[in-house]
Order: sequence, then C-alpha cells, then structure tokens
Amino acid sequence: MQTPYLSIVIPVYNEEANLRPLFDRLYPVMLGTGRPFEIIFTDDGSRDRSLAILKDLASNQPEVRVVEFNGNFGQHMAILAAFEMSRGEIVVTLDADLQNPPEEIPKLVRKMEEGCDVVGSIRQKRQDTLFRRVASRIVNITTNKITGMQMSDYGCMLRAYNRNIVDNINRCRETTTFIPALAQTFAANPCEVEVVHAERAEGESKYSLYRLIRLNFDLMTGFSVVPLQLFALLGIFTSVLSLVFALFLLIRRFIVGAEVEGVFTLFAILFFFIGIIILGIGIVGEYVGRIYQEVRKRPRFVVRRTYGFEEQ
Ligand code: UDP
Ligand code: MG
Repeated sequence: MQTPYLSIVIPVYNEEANLRPLFDRLYPVMLGTGRPFEIIFTDDGSRDRSLAILKDLASNQPEVRVVEFNGNFGQHMAILAAFEMSRGEIVVTLDADLQNPPEEIPKLVRKMEEGCDVVGSIRQKRQDTLFRRVASRIVNITTNKITGMQMSDYGCMLRAYNRNIVDNINRCRETTTFIPALAQTFAANPCEVEVVHAERAEGESKYSLYRLIRLNFDLMTGFSVVPLQLFALLGIFTSVLSLVFALFLLIRRFIVGAEVEGVFTLFAILFFFIGIIILGIGIVGEYVGRIYQEVRKRPRFVVRRTYGFEEQ
C-alpha cells in the first residue's frame, strides 16, 4: 500500500453503537478526497464490543488500523499513541461519537493545503448542555490569558496537524497533556475554521464533572506557571494592604483610642485569607504532583496489540 497522505486518528472508549455509523460516513468522505489515507482507531480499554467491531473493520479494510490499549489511559493518550503510529502528511483527529461530522474533514484539509500547520475548529451551534458551554467559555478565556495563546475553542477535537507538528508532539514525553494546546505551542501558522457540531449519537459522555475539572487543571498547570506567579502577586498585594491597615489602626489609636469591637469582622477577614492560603497550597500541590508524575518516568500508555499495521 502507498504511504498515506491523510491519517485520521480516532480515540474510542465504549463507543460500540457509534463505530459502524461513523465508519459508514467517514469512509466515503475519505475516498472522495482521492488521496491515499489511513484511519487509526485507538481502543482505550473499552469494556463493550468496541474492540471486536474495530478488529472486524481492520480485517476487512486495508486502510483501517487499530491500536489496542491495555487499559483506560484517557483520550489524549489514545490520540498520542495513534500519532506515534501515523504516517500521513496531514493528521486529523476526530471524536468517535459523531459529534464532529466527518463530512467536515475536506474543509480542514483544504485549509492545511493553503499553508496552515494546525487547523483548529470552532463549533457552530454547539450541541451540548448549557453548563458545558458556559464551562468551556470560561476555560477558553482563562486558558488564552494564562498560556498567551489564541484559540477560540479548545474543546473541539476535530483538528488537523501537519507532519512537522505531529513529530514535535511525539517528542514530548509529558504524562498528562492536552493535545490542542500542546500543538498550539509548536504552531507557526495556526488557522481556524467553523464546523458543524452534532449531539452525541449514542451512549453518554465519558467526562464527568470531576474528570472535566481534572482536565482543566492539567491544561492550566501543564502549560503555564502563571497560577503560581499570581499567588506571589497576591501575597505582595495582601502584605501592602495589611501595612496600610496597621497604619490606619495606629493613627486611629491616637485620635479615637484603642478599639476592641469588630472582632467578628476580623474573623471574617481571617477566614477569607485562610481560604486563599489553602487554595494556594492546593495549586502548589498540583505542580508538585505533576513533577512527581514526570520524575517517575512510567510509560504513559501500554499498547497490548495492534491490528492492520502488519504490512509495514
Ligand atoms: N475517550 C477516550 N478515552 C476516555 C474518554 C473518552 O478515548 O477515557 C474518547 C471517546 O470515545 C470519544 C472522545 O474521546 O471518542 C470524546 O469523548 P466524549 O464524547 O465522551 O467527550 P465529550 O464530547 O463529552 O467532551
Ligand atoms: Mg463527545
């Protein structure tokens, strides 16, 4: 088989009901591009029939390749594993739940051929709950501020990367990551296109509120030390403020005399600052945790088997 020009990368975790419909829509789109392509699925430790369906696809379609994980290592690790196996000049990532319509892929490819090295996508009329939309909004704004990057929609995984970017991502060995942000740090000419967004076809979201919070922590602490610096700034600000307060008390003592009332106000202020200190320790702990994960140097994911890569 020819070396593929396009590699499609799809992470899969318990998506048995979506895989066939996804493939049936994706395959004609890929044939329509008229270029050699490969479709790499990573089975991220699914406990349903996903792997069986994928194996079946791989044995019937020469373009389909499957990486089987030895457990659930998360969406981003699944994408990274497929990146390492991919050979295309352009690599496109996509969700398995049909929220990203495969029909939009040629649009991204066209944009890449105009000279962009990363093409992001902005979800038009996003089909998610209000809560998810508001949360994303906050994440997008703060992440852009903190990382100094410019991207409108970090959450949408329908994205295209060129070979150079993928090779650079493959050189990164960090254990927790967020691929769109990582790619952005290497991009020289990133672009964005608007894409249609659909509701999840079958099954339910794999991200609980807790997992979303974890992911966003990874995003903040993985790409910037600004949270730590903010705390240093806050510390300086508070000490200046308390100095002013002490001066005020001193002057007041000479004019009105010593004060004893307002003790509970003092408690309120105290609790507020204790809260901030605990938060600060939490943020420091987040970084220490990351450092710990990195120094252990454990493998980031374990591949049990691959299918469809044999002829290489
Ligand atoms: N996914 C994965 N491993 C996980 C969680 C999710 O490979 O641990 C895949 C999932 O099968 C889907 C994509 O990542 O293809 C996005 O997941 P999901 O649709 O649940 O996320 P949401 O759209 O709700 O953000
Ligand atoms: Mg989804």
